[in-house]
Amino acid sequence: MSIFSNEALKHKHVLITGATGGIGYETAKVLAGMGARLTITGRNEEKLNELKQQLIPVVGEENVFVKTADLTVEKEREELVLSADKALGFINGLVNSAGIGGGGVVEELDEATVERVMNVNFKSTLFLTQLVYSRMLEKKEGDIVNLSSLSGLRGTHGNTAYAASKFAVIGWTQSMALEAIEHKIRVNAVCPGYVDTEMAWNSIRKKAEKKGVSFEEGMNEAAAAIPSGRISTTEEVANMIAFLLTDAARNIVGEAMKISGGNFMR
Ligand code: NAD
Repeated sequence: MSIFSNEALKHKHVLITGATGGIGYETAKVLAGMGARLTITGRNEEKLNELKQQLIPVVGEENVFVKTADLTVEKEREELVLSADKALGFINGLVNSAGIGGGGVVEELDEATVERVMNVNFKSTLFLTQLVYSRMLEKKEGDIVNLSSLSGLRGTHGNTAYAASKFAVIGWTQSMALEAIEHKIRVNAVCPGYVDTEMAWNSIRKKAEKKGVSFEEGMNEAAAAIPSGRISTTEEVANMIAFLLTDAARNIVGEAMKISGGNFMR
């Protein structure tokens, strides 16, 4: 549920990547409640259509566009942006939520994993953004929110490749933000600690297996290590993304906004 009014993003067209994943899925629902028109993209068509069915009663069928795309494929990125533009017009907002975990401890890393993590989390996201940004530049308007991570602000154990890719996201967010604000376009990043999605579950499961404890114990340990005593919900992260897309955030530029229950201090 959105904490914002149903006028806050009225008529704005927002493209959300990773909309089949936990954070992207919830963000689509929150933005719909704010009156946005939505392009939702991911690789799982069935899941996208399931999400579409949830959005239709809120925004109407004519205001939801579904397009599957593997963002690592240049042609699919181009088709995504072209078709979104054609279906719902100028893209006012972009939420880059697609991402993958990856890695393990340094001695386990291989080149293919590092390339894949950097490709999805950094390179492909940057080049998708470039396509949307070129249209925003013509209009001198637009808001972009990138999903980085707490791991993009500091090292996290067993997460070298992922952390490097998320540091890269903050690097390009802040560099691009300086260029883009000259054209009235804002770029920001959100940096969550653990969020209650498959990505976090996989990471916690892997760590629990290594320690020889159950997944449930691993989840409890992860929560206990956070000052607030719990991991974030997808709704909490979606609301932060939503805020960054509104006019209320109009002087927030190049930020890397943390949401971690205080975990960033540990
Ligand atoms: P998720 O795994 O639930 O969703 C990620 C989505 O990205 C999936 O739908 C997946 O299909 C999509 N994706 C991956 N590769 C793709 C590709 N090549 N083309 C198109 N789509 C692709 O994860 P989430 O928790 O929703 O994560 C969303 C973002 O938030 C990610 O960038 C992640 O790194 C970041 N994040 C998550 C957490 C967490 O604890 N869940 C913490 C910090 C940051």
